[in-house]
Amino acid sequence: MTHDLLVVGSANVDLVVPADRRPGAGETVLGGDTVVSPGGKGANTAVAAARLGADVALAGAIGDDAYGTILTESLRGAGVHTDLLRTVHRPTGVAYITVTPDGENSILVSTGANAELAPADVEGASSGAKVVVASLEVPLPTVERAITVAAGAGARTLLNLSPAADVGETVLAAVDVLVVNEHEAAWLLGSSAEPARLLELGPRAAVVTIGARGALVATPSGTVEIAAPKVKAVDTTGAGDAFTGALAAALADAEELETAARRAAEVAAISVTRPGAQPSYPSAQELRRR
Ligand code: ADP
Repeated sequence: MTHDLLVVGSANVDLVVPADRRPGAGETVLGGDTVVSPGGKGANTAVAAARLGADVALAGAIGDDAYGTILTESLRGAGVHTDLLRTVHRPTGVAYITVTPDGENSILVSTGANAELAPADVEGASSGAKVVVASLEVPLPTVERAITVAAGAGARTLLNLSPAADVGETVLAAVDVLVVNEHEAAWLLGSSAEPARLLELGPRAAVVTIGARGALVATPSGTVEIAAPKVKAVDTTGAGDAFTGALAAALADAEELETAARRAAEVAAISVTRPGAQPSYPSAQELRRR
């Protein structure tokens, strides 16, 4: 079965603990009540796109456990196709997230089942989609295979290089839109991160998300700044994934990159006003009402 949009990436359960501050090494800090919510870069991206009406499947891996069930239910509830979601003999991935009163988060990820997502799991589907978007938190060879197969089949490819990883030159050359945040851009380029310089690494276009300031879209014709709508942020968990999912959904809808990035900034801004990752993503209907 093929879908317009294929997301290749992780599915994790987020265990979110509010705390006045994050603990240092050897220190214990008492936090608030734990909130368990579906997350993972791949699952978040797929849910964000599906909520906006995209025909999207997630190629991912979960464990045969209660967290896997939470993820499957969330994905299906949002309308994400799960025919490419494998159940494997490892625990479902878990992200341990501390959120401080300023809305900032710090995250420790236990990869678990995500480590089992193999290149062979993504090969067939990558050649059938209109748009393929991949993010890390799953094995690099799997991401590389998805991107190169998709590009070879004429699909539009988005690589959300998050967390930053050393991707091969030929893979970057097969990327249509590279999506990174400021930290990942700096990791790729060194401290003077100039978005246009990301194009020298191979992709046709690059989008750098810059938090509350919005995003920068670099193409060979120049760099355009997309301002973020002004909102009161309560939890930025999954904001980048909301952005990537909305961007991919708009591109699958044949929007221009700049228009797609504006739409993505709107969606991501809404997501930071509510707690959690997937539960904070707006539907197409909500977006139209605004
Ligand atoms: P990441 O979540 O990967 O660190 P960013 O912090 O750059 O990425 O956030 C991704 C996108 O989410 C931004 O490009 C922006 O559109 C949106 N966003 C993040 N924080 C805010 C905020 N405080 N107000 C409005 N939009 C925000």
